[in-house]
Amino acid sequence: MLEVNGLRVTYGGIQAVRGITFHVNEGEMVALIGANGAGKSSTLRALARLLDPAGGNVRYRGQEIQRLPPHRLVEQGIALVPEGRGVFPRMSCVENLRMGAYSRNDLNEIERDLEHVLGHFPRLKERAQQLAGTLSGGEQQMLAIGRALMSRPKLLLLDEPSMGLAPIMVQKIFQVICAVAAEGMTILLVEQNAKLALEVSQRGYVMESGEITVTDEASKLLADPKVRAAYLGE
Ligand code: ATP
Repeated sequence: MLEVNGLRVTYGGIQAVRGITFHVNEGEMVALIGANGAGKSSTLRALARLLDPAGGNVRYRGQEIQRLPPHRLVEQGIALVPEGRGVFPRMSCVENLRMGAYSRNDLNEIERDLEHVLGHFPRLKERAQQLAGTLSGGEQQMLAIGRALMSRPKLLLLDEPSMGLAPIMVQKIFQVICAVAAEGMTILLVEQNAKLALEVSQRGYVMESGEITVTDEASKLLADPKVRAAYLGE
């Protein structure tokens, strides 16, 4: 579904992503793990076209997309849940969710999807009319995921969904991510919580200083002594 070849991201003179190559198959959940500053978010932002890659080639379902504008990617089925969530604080939960469907005009289907998303997140249903800015961090994360789902993506790019959240909230959010994956969604998951990310993914890539240094099935990475020492706190 997604083939990334030699992707590079630079900020002025800094090379944040140094020509990485990886892929995500249809229906897979793939984890991109690594320390702070390894280049994971820059990779996702380049894939979602929130920044211009300095080089490389990105193919999505066979089509080159590295020059398409972000809104075209949403129309084609790629949705990013950004680091920091980026909800619209002065809009209600439901208004935020509807914003996720701005590129669609199938009104009946949008209503159905809204119910489906609220079914995944009963907390948001209870707070449907509450302003997003007044929600807790975990609820905002739910909202950001829900908003992305409202575009009916085929490929979901998740940037650090566990960041800054209490363990109980992380657990709830990952339950929904797994439920969405079980419905057939293809997911690229960027996480600093490597253990959690690898436990729910089929495959993983380890990023260090802008490069992919290790890749394998997630279960093998979880058992790899070097990965355990460097990323699983052992
Ligand atoms: P984190 O988990 O902290 O977000 P990351 O693996 O996602 O880490 P990136 O945020 O992609 O890493 O950062 C990769 C490198 O690029 C870092 O050295 C970072 O300081 C640098 N960087 C990121 N954004 C910018 C920017 N807007 N301007 C300059 N340098 C940046």
